Amino acid sequence: MNKTYDVIVIGLGGMGSAAAYHLMKKGLRVLGIDRFQPPHQFGSSHGHTRIFREAYLEGASYVPLAQRAHALWRRLEEESGKDLLAEIGGVMIGPENCEIVQGTITSAKQYNLPYEMLSAKEMAKRFPAFYLAEDEVAVYEKTAGVLFPEACIEACLKIAISEGLEIKTDERVLKWGQEGGGITVYTEKGIYKAEKLVISAGAWNPDLFGFTIPLEVQRKVPTWFQAMNKPEIFNPDQFPIFCWHYTNDLNIYGMPGFHGEGTKVAFHQGGLIGTADELDREVSSEEIAPIQRLVAERFPDLNINDVTIDTCFYTNTPDGHFVLGKHPNYDNVAIAGGFSGHGFKFCSVIGEILSDLVIKGKTNHDITLFDPVRFQKL
Ligand SMILES: Cc1cc2nc3c(=O)[nH]c(=O)nc-3n(C[C@H](O)[C@H](O)[C@H](O)COP(=O)(O)OP(=O)(O)OC[C@H]3O[C@@H](n4cnc5c(N)ncnc54)[C@H](O)[C@@H]3O)c2cc1C
Repeated sequence: MNKTYDVIVIGLGGMGSAAAYHLMKKGLRVLGIDRFQPPHQFGSSHGHTRIFREAYLEGASYVPLAQRAHALWRRLEEESGKDLLAEIGGVMIGPENCEIVQGTITSAKQYNLPYEMLSAKEMAKRFPAFYLAEDEVAVYEKTAGVLFPEACIEACLKIAISEGLEIKTDERVLKWGQEGGGITVYTEKGIYKAEKLVISAGAWNPDLFGFTIPLEVQRKVPTWFQAMNKPEIFNPDQFPIFCWHYTNDLNIYGMPGFHGEGTKVAFHQGGLIGTADELDREVSSEEIAPIQRLVAERFPDLNINDVTIDTCFYTNTPDGHFVLGKHPNYDNVAIAGGFSGHGFKFCSVIGEILSDLVIKGKTNHDITLFDPVRFQKL
């Protein structure tokens, strides 16, 4: 007879590995299943680095979540003995009235987060790699920084496994269903049963959520550039993470390299739309020409021809906010997805929320913004 688990977690990437970690901390019998071997380079949580910031231009209601995430990342660091979060500071750049600058200031004021305003001249002095236009300003947040996503996932899984998490990797979930009051999960290799289910399958969530929701999978092409001049100005002590208003509908973001990978500069918007299984992983040289032009203009000390390219998936919602909560049709299923290109920094707290949702049926964190059925109400 099949063993029955308290919870099955489908997808052990950024969110699922954190959920498994929190579930194990609460003493449950948990099975985690992943179609690859996490951490891996096929989903949304790879590529060396992710931005962490607390002042949140996408909405002040993210701030308490970012603060809790920060505390949990630090706890995970202590427990694992690994460096996971480097606080190197961050700058949000653009014309004074743009959304990036104003959204950051609004959320910082609302939560009394310390920040500094820097003029283009002050930026040139303090962070000489950045070439701002005269009318641009920067909001500097000292506690922003960089997470190392592969190390974060590894740390969560290692600790969870040491506390009894069972995992099945290289095993794709085909479908799941509610049977006899519990959950049955069918994979390519077996059938597993549990009381509760967490679905955190990233760009593959549209195949697994089991209700209609407008999620759009977008192929992103992050790029890393080596320095041509003055390599020291691209070191983490002189080069903060950044988000930069470029045009009204185009932002760029980036961060320094920590392990020789180069300085990451990438577009936040744009990219091929499709399904995670079908989107082409090959990138043509024409596709990276726009980011090369932009780098030449804004970071002229980088070598636009010494570039490393990767692909990765955003899973976007129409409003850019996450999908996080109980499944609309099943009380014993919690879902997490639609992170719209800004979810990684929150994995630690989202893991906690998912564990609350399946164990207690509710969470003390405010997740009303992420209601999975909000698009059906439009
Ligand atoms: C280029 C890029 C840059 C980004 N930059 C930032 C940033 O700076 N800061 C930030 O906060 N966020 C950033 N993000 C967003 C962030 O990385 C994502 O929101 C986050 O990684 C999503 O985690 P996830 O767990 O949902 O997905 P994933 O980590 O991809 O995990 C999903 C897992 O589910 C597994 N899976 C899928 N289908 C199945 C199946 N059928 N059976 C079993 N397993 C399955 C997959 O193998 C995978 O391991 C960025 C994203 C990209 C692509």
